[in-house]
Amino acid sequence: MTERLPLRPELRGAVPYGAPQLDVPVRLNTNENPYPPPPVVVAEAAEAVREAVAGLNRYPDREAAALRADLAAYLTAEGGVALDAASVWAANGSNEVMLQLLQAFAGPGRTAMSFEPTYSMYPEYARDTATRWVAGVRADDFSLPADLAVAQVRRHRPDVVLLASPNNPTGTVLPLDVVAALHDATTGMVVVDEAYGEFRRAGTPSALTLLPGRPRLVVTRTMSKAFAFAGARLGYLAADAAVVDALRVVRLPYHLSAVTQAVARVALRHADALQQQVAALRAARDDLVGWLRAQGLVVPDSDANFVLVGRFPDRRAVWEGLLARGVLVREVGPPEWLRVTVGTDTEMAALRDALSAVLAEQEESP
Ligand code: PMP
Repeated sequence: MTERLPLRPELRGAVPYGAPQLDVPVRLNTNENPYPPPPVVVAEAAEAVREAVAGLNRYPDREAAALRADLAAYLTAEGGVALDAASVWAANGSNEVMLQLLQAFAGPGRTAMSFEPTYSMYPEYARDTATRWVAGVRADDFSLPADLAVAQVRRHRPDVVLLASPNNPTGTVLPLDVVAALHDATTGMVVVDEAYGEFRRAGTPSALTLLPGRPRLVVTRTMSKAFAFAGARLGYLAADAAVVDALRVVRLPYHLSAVTQAVARVALRHADALQQQVAALRAARDDLVGWLRAQGLVVPDSDANFVLVGRFPDRRAVWEGLLARGVLVREVGPPEWLRVTVGTDTEMAALRDALSAVLAEQEESP
């Protein structure tokens, strides 16, 4: 369809990013929170939307000042580091936050890098901002030891290093000494993507604790996962106030709608209620890891609300076998692995039944 358009050469033949949105009973493919917002949030958000809509003839607060103050208070409580609105920024999902970071700190003639396997949108942000992309590597067990990471950063001298922790799709967390070592090893920006941060196991500190004294460090978060608010599209970051000022230059005017700002503030007022299932999801994740390992499968330790599981010589067959039984997982990451989002107890039971059946079938006809 696009062949006759004067499209940028690097976009020719490219397909839109996204997992299949299939209507199946058990959807474990996009790392959402399976529990919808509680009725009190629904009621207050509906009221907040009514008020916001009554003023939609006007543009929203361009600086999202009230929302950023609320986010700062939430992060101060969650991460244990004092933050104010000037060091917090928000946009339409952490996807947009990340794109703005590359618009400000990368771009033509500059380089961004990460360590694969990692979130597959990163190279797309690089492509879309005409940034050179370097795919660094991890150890065989998907960990990223400091010496391996630092050596690659010294070699490629990226302007922006993107580090997902917990990492998607492996679920593995990055020790803070590695983040600190990378910040010391580069003059570029170091972005720790904590989209799944709230699911980390007890005793795992957030990279927020590293912010003081590190002006090139950025920590991004989202309401799409632990907050059970993926549909609202609200991502945010914490960093030195100078980083936020840089993003204010590249953001589109009025990028965050009045409706989004209003419902996000309601969600923050009810942060505890929205996240009341996080502990249950963490426990369900640990149970799932235990069960998968008991089946003889390999699962890296996960600090997220999903697990990577392998190795399947024919992962497509396993993915199809699960789908045929009404369970949708994600075909992503290295070739012999699948990623499974942690769902409700009922969904986890359905997954166990379906996977047991698929594995038994494969044993019968190898
Ligand atoms: N970072 C990581 C590592 C993710 O897995 C995702 C979503 N899958 C995002 C960022 C983007 O999330 P959102 O735009 O919904 O905040």
